[in-house]
Amino acid sequence: MLKPFDDSGSELDALYSVEPRSNGFDLIVESRGGSDHGPNAARNSEYAPALEQHLTRMGALGMVLDDLQVASSIAMKLPELDRRVSLDKFPLPLALSPATDVRELRHSIGRASAAFGRTDGSDRGNRTKRMRLRMQWPGAAGMTVNAIERMLWRPIAPATDVQPTDDPRELQKRVAQATAHIRAAAKRGTVQPPPGQTTPPKASGTLSRFVRDPNVIAWVLNEAAGNCEICRHAAPFLRAGGEPFLEVHHVRPLGDGGPDTVDNAVACCPNCHRQLHHDRNRDTLRQNAIASIARLRDYPLTATADTVTPATTVIL
Ligand SMILES: [Zn+2]
Ligand SMILES: [Zn+2]
Repeated sequence: MLKPFDDSGSELDALYSVEPRSNGFDLIVESRGGSDHGPNAARNSEYAPALEQHLTRMGALGMVLDDLQVASSIAMKLPELDRRVSLDKFPLPLALSPATDVRELRHSIGRASAAFGRTDGSDRGNRTKRMRLRMQWPGAAGMTVNAIERMLWRPIAPATDVQPTDDPRELQKRVAQATAHIRAAAKRGTVQPPPGQTTPPKASGTLSRFVRDPNVIAWVLNEAAGNCEICRHAAPFLRAGGEPFLEVHHVRPLGDGGPDTVDNAVACCPNCHRQLHHDRNRDTLRQNAIASIARLRDYPLTATADTVTPATTVIL
């Protein structure tokens, strides 16, 4: 018997065990007992949230609740058929899904459990008896008890479908996906920092970069004379060698088919550069730059190359 973990990785005070079957497994839920205040220490005080969590996870995996049995010591003296209970609001077998109202289902299981106590005169009114949930799930075939337990009880890993990538474009897409995961977790109050990578792997030979002409860069920087051509402010700092720090941006990025020529290149401060790439109104900013800087031409978008355009083109 083990205690499950909730989504945030905290252990729940509830005991469960698993018995594999040919077409699935049985999930045995230990009763809740004792009291927080009486002489007997509370036992399995988180019976309810743990049961809801199990139902949620089994729903996510599309399992079917075939049958529900009371498994208290008193019930176990009865033939199996007499231990079975039905649910008032859910037909059995019940296909669980992410849409299943697990709270209502948990309450329904509680009512069935309590009703059973009244008929055999024992355990009166206890809605949190030892129960056996007979789950049908072909995925359990060949899985060990341990593997099934881990599947049901391990903390849900953050966004496992969003893997690290060395491709900046792909990374940006995955950041958007991971953000959606994190916001969903925040709604449930279960945000956890991701483990990250202590030794991030290096990729080599997978990216192609454009070969750029240093003459174009030098000419544009000279033209800018130390001021950002977008916001017109002086470069934010000087390089070690005393040159003003400005970056050279392609108004039509090379990856979108733009040329590496001075009529497509603008010198800008790091803030303006990031803004040209990432501002929600970047298309307008681009048009404004073309309208206000006489040498610039409006090159058409001719390609969405898989070649990477770095978000910042840091020069020299
Ligand atoms: Zn600027
Ligand atoms: Zn740029």
